[in-house]
Order: sequence, then C-alpha cells, then structure tokens
Amino acid sequence: MDHRTIELRTAFKQSFGSDAQVAVRAPGRVNLIGEHTDYNDGFCLPMAIERDVLIAYRSRSDTTVRVLSLQQKNLEIFDVGPSEGNRIHKSSQVSARWADYIKGCAQVLREEGLKLHGVDMALTGDVPLGSGLSSSAALEVATMLALLGANGLTFSAEKIAKLAQRAENTYVGTQCGILDQLSSACAVHGQAMLMDCRTLALTPAPLPKGISVVIADTGKRRGLVDSAYNERRAQCEAGARALGVSHLRDVSMAGLWQARQAGKLDAVALKRCEHVVAENGRTVAAFACLTSGNAEAFGQLMDQSHADLRDKFEVSCRELDDMVAISRALPGCLGSRMTGAGFGGCTVSLVKDEHTSAFASSLASAYKKLHDLPMAVYLTCAAAGAGPVVLG
Ligand code: ADP
Ligand code: MG
Repeated sequence: MDHRTIELRTAFKQSFGSDAQVAVRAPGRVNLIGEHTDYNDGFCLPMAIERDVLIAYRSRSDTTVRVLSLQQKNLEIFDVGPSEGNRIHKSSQVSARWADYIKGCAQVLREEGLKLHGVDMALTGDVPLGSGLSSSAALEVATMLALLGANGLTFSAEKIAKLAQRAENTYVGTQCGILDQLSSACAVHGQAMLMDCRTLALTPAPLPKGISVVIADTGKRRGLVDSAYNERRAQCEAGARALGVSHLRDVSMAGLWQARQAGKLDAVALKRCEHVVAENGRTVAAFACLTSGNAEAFGQLMDQSHADLRDKFEVSCRELDDMVAISRALPGCLGSRMTGAGFGGCTVSLVKDEHTSAFASSLASAYKKLHDLPMAVYLTCAAAGAGPVVLG
C-alpha cells in the first residue's frame, strides 16, 4: 500500500463516515507514435504510464452519488435515479467541472439501460491535468470501474473504453478518439501496444531492452486545442470525402499523389492528408522495430513524426519544437517528438538507460533557459491497464 492509498482511505472515512469497500485505478498514457491517426481509423502505439487515477468506493442502497476529489478539494453530490429525468445535469460552477467526467460516465451507463445504485467515491490522481497524458481518460475509466463495481457488474475492458469515450464525447463535449480510453483500460504491463483504431485490435510488444521512455512537459497549456483539434478533424474528414473513402486509413501514399495530380485536394488538405497517411505507415513500421528490437530505427520514425506534425499537420508550437530540439541534441537520445493533440503539453523521447538521468537534468536546465514555464520530466515504465487495487 503506498501513501496515496492510505491518504485516500483516510479521506474516505473522514468524509463518508465508514470504510471504503474497494479501490480501482486507471492509468494515464503516452503515445509513442501515431498522432492524429485515431479518428482517421488508423494506428497508434501507446503505453500506459506509472501515473493513475485511484478511486476508493462503497456502494449505497439509494441512488445518490457522492464524490470527493482530493486534488480539487471538492465534494460533489448528484442523483442517478429515474426521478432525475433523462439527463443528469452538468455542473453549473466552473470549480465543479471535474465532476462532469463522473456524471458523464453515469449518464452513459443509464443510456445503456442500467438502473444504477448510488455510490460514495473518493478519488486522487497523479496524472498531470491537461498535459496530454490523458488524466481525463484515466478519470473516466476508473469511474466506469467504480460505478460498475458498486452495481455488481463487470464489462469487458474494450466496452468500458468505448463507454468512457462516449461520456467524454457526448457529455463533457470533447471530440476525442478512442486512443486515450482504450490505452487506459487495456494496457499491458511492460508493453507498448499497436492499436488498430478501426478494429480496436491491440497487439502488445515490449520496449527495446536498455531503452527508457522519457516524457517532458513543456508547461505550456493547450489553450487552442479544442478549436484547432476540431478543425483538423474536419479537414481530415473533408480530405477523405474528396478522396472517395470513409477514412484516411484507406488512402495510400500512391493514391494521395494521384489525387494531387488530379487536383482533388487543395494545398492545406494535401498537407494534412500527407501527415496522416505517412504517420499510419510510420506507426506500423515502428511496431515492427519493437518486435525486431531496433530502437535506432524506432527513434528515427519518432523524429519524422515530429517533423510532419510541425510542418504538415501544424499542431506543434515553439515550446514543443524547442523541447524536441534540445532532447535530440543530448547524448543517448534516439528520437523525440511531441505527443498528444499538440499546441503544448508533452514530448516523448527514447533514451539509452545509461544516459537517462543526465538527459533529464540537462533537458530541464536547457529548456528553463528558453522558457519560464512550469516544466517537468517524468520517467516511466509501461504500466498495467485499469483494474482493482488492494486497499489493505
Ligand atoms: P488531459 O486528459 O490531457 O489530462 P483534459 O483537458 O482532457 O486533459 O482533462 C483534464 C481534466 O480532467 C481536468 O481539468 C479535470 O477536470 C479532470 N480530471 C482529471 N484527473 C482528475 C482528478 N484526479 N481529479 C479531478 N479531476 C480530474
Ligand atoms: Mg483528455
């Protein structure tokens, strides 16, 4: 039992007057390669990180949900019973918006036809909020496990991921693809996973021996991300329509060149499509590098991914480009790229084990000379997907 579990147990008892019955956890994730491909039915290569959302809970006999967030220092109460009508009301106060992720999960389960009992929940987490490491998906997946567990139900990890994504899309209102929730729900300890976002098939592969994954947060928050993300999605959808396919997944580089010759795409659409088509190819190639243990080639694909995200998909920013350039020049770094939606958030780098601690400190000091932002470096192994935790 770590200190967070003890803190959570204590907070639960203080707030709700009895002991929690069960605890569950769901991790954040980092995507090693395959960016802006999930909503194009393409490929991603994520792994879960050793940071998670932890929820202790106790089921109730009525339909009240009480949820305490240790980070937000805030208790929210709502009802999941039929008297609440068709829709659980969203939080009106900004300070309670975090609870919409929980209400959204309950709403989606009600829409599945479940008659839910209430539950008391206390939650804590160490996935940085809004950094692109998917604290929102970790919160949703952990909430799904808690709500289902409190109601004596079990769903498959894939179904939980889909329902969690639906909660974020339809209730919270963020049009994310399936990458975040599927990673959190289905990750395998010690492995990265090739994710086929069309079939939702996951194929695990271990990281190369002697190589560490280093995540660095630029400290820049992704202010533009919602509108720019939706714009990129719309551009990809328009590109697919112009090319006569349902998703850019179905386009080859050769097909893209033919479409260009035929004048089917304007210059911006062409750049966006080029990134997606090339990134799908790079992701499948990167997976092959994992299975053959070729870390150098994997790193080169990460570099190419960053260049396209910067120049063709245009979702990088000064801070991310600086972080990647600094990382790339440091000893032992095999590849580096922005990870997540872009416009801020984190980079991910592959670094030889013997260089990792020097890499982390040199990166921090060089970056701080350029940007006065609350940057952070996280070293992580590939964590297990969501599941129960022993409360002790
Ligand atoms: P990301 O998923 O990249 O971290 P998002 O903007 O999608 O960023 O989600 C962040 C939001 O998720 C936070 O602003 C908060 O509302 C909610 N959240 C995540 N983890 C927690 C937590 N431990 N406690 C309360 N709210 C959380
Ligand atoms: Mg999120």
